Amino acid sequence: MPDVILVTGGHGLVGKAIEHVLVTEAPNTRYGRRDGETWVFASSKEGDLRNEAETKALFAKYKPTHVIHLAALVGGLFMNMKQKLSMLRDNININNNVLHTSYETGVEKVVSCLSTCVFPDGITPPLREDKIHLGPPHDSNFGYAYAKRLVDIANHAYREQFNCNFTAAIPTNIYGTHDNFDLEDSHVIPGLIHKCYLAKKNGTPFVVAGTGKPLRQFVFSYDLAKMFIWQLREYDDVEPIIFSVGENEDVSIGYVAEQIVKAFDFKGEVKFDTSKSDGQFRKPASNEKLLRLVRETSKDQEEFQFTPFEQGLNETVQWFNDNYETARRGQVKRGQVVTSATA
Ligand code: NAP
Ligand code: GDP
Repeated sequence: MPDVILVTGGHGLVGKAIEHVLVTEAPNTRYGRRDGETWVFASSKEGDLRNEAETKALFAKYKPTHVIHLAALVGGLFMNMKQKLSMLRDNININNNVLHTSYETGVEKVVSCLSTCVFPDGITPPLREDKIHLGPPHDSNFGYAYAKRLVDIANHAYREQFNCNFTAAIPTNIYGTHDNFDLEDSHVIPGLIHKCYLAKKNGTPFVVAGTGKPLRQFVFSYDLAKMFIWQLREYDDVEPIIFSVGENEDVSIGYVAEQIVKAFDFKGEVKFDTSKSDGQFRKPASNEKLLRLVRETSKDQEEFQFTPFEQGLNETVQWFNDNYETARRGQVKRGQVVTSATA
């Protein structure tokens, strides 16, 4: 039986990166498309996964044997702060529908996507896979964090009760082509790229939110895509894996802004709006487990190499410049909570 791999959220930042890697890597290699595989990249237009019937219809249409589950209501710090209930409720509903439909239809394996937001705030560094449930998450994103933590709980429950092969990845902050470049609701890199683009075009200052001092580990979407393909093919344990550059390779938001200024050759004023939140100062995550497992399964294959940050950032800025008209520059307002007052 050929494998049918359904990628939910397949038209987003990570979904598009997986599609890119499958076609740019040589066929039948570690990361390239393999004979007998059919990959389906589903957009929300094919089904709203918050809705059980639409989720079942999507699965009935494609009959996946494997699922990479990326679909989520996703945003940066400021969206997480503003939409805690949407983040909690939409993501719980999406995850519940995808995991349960996968179980009911006999999907052989599901790799879901968590985030380092799941980790407790103020825990002794570094963040490691066995520390997820040791305390409450940071207050700025508890809705999103608890919805994502529940995927790990569900994976264990499906495994223990029904022997399902469900697992998850935990990426740090992701950036790359095809991101959501919304000015308010996106993550920091796409948000700042869009802001710098407009500052250059309009001759206005480039305004960075917060002090610029917080540190983040950034992972380029094409690198992350390889890790997802590896995890789907070569990892069968329920425990999640952190997908990241090394814990000491975090960079400050100020440095990110500096590199974006350089990539755009922006000559105007750069300002830090310290009235805006910095969010968590630092959340260094260990990639020790990932690197060890990739190495152990490597046989005579090459070791995993991360794209240097400056190179990935330049590629992303170039892509945004080249695709400004069609790039996602606004959050789809799917995430609005419909209450009896607004229905
Ligand atoms: P993204 O570009 O926004 O992609 C997410 C996709 O989910 C969207 O393209 C959207 O599809 C789909 N989606 C949202 N709501 C949906 C719904 N109700 N029904 C069906 N599809 C829906 O975000 P991403 O960065 O690729 O995120 C992929 C995964 O990585 C997510 O699980 C996210 O939580 C996780 N993650 C992201 C980051 C980051 O820094 N970006 C960090 C850690 C973890 P359409 O575009 O077709 O509407
Ligand atoms: P996080 O890594 O989950 O906290 O999410 P973000 O990708 O949203 O990064 C948030 C950090 O970037 C905080 O320190 C913000 O103050 C800072 N930041 C600076 N400018 C921006 C911006 O335009 N958008 C976002 N989302 N964050 C920004």
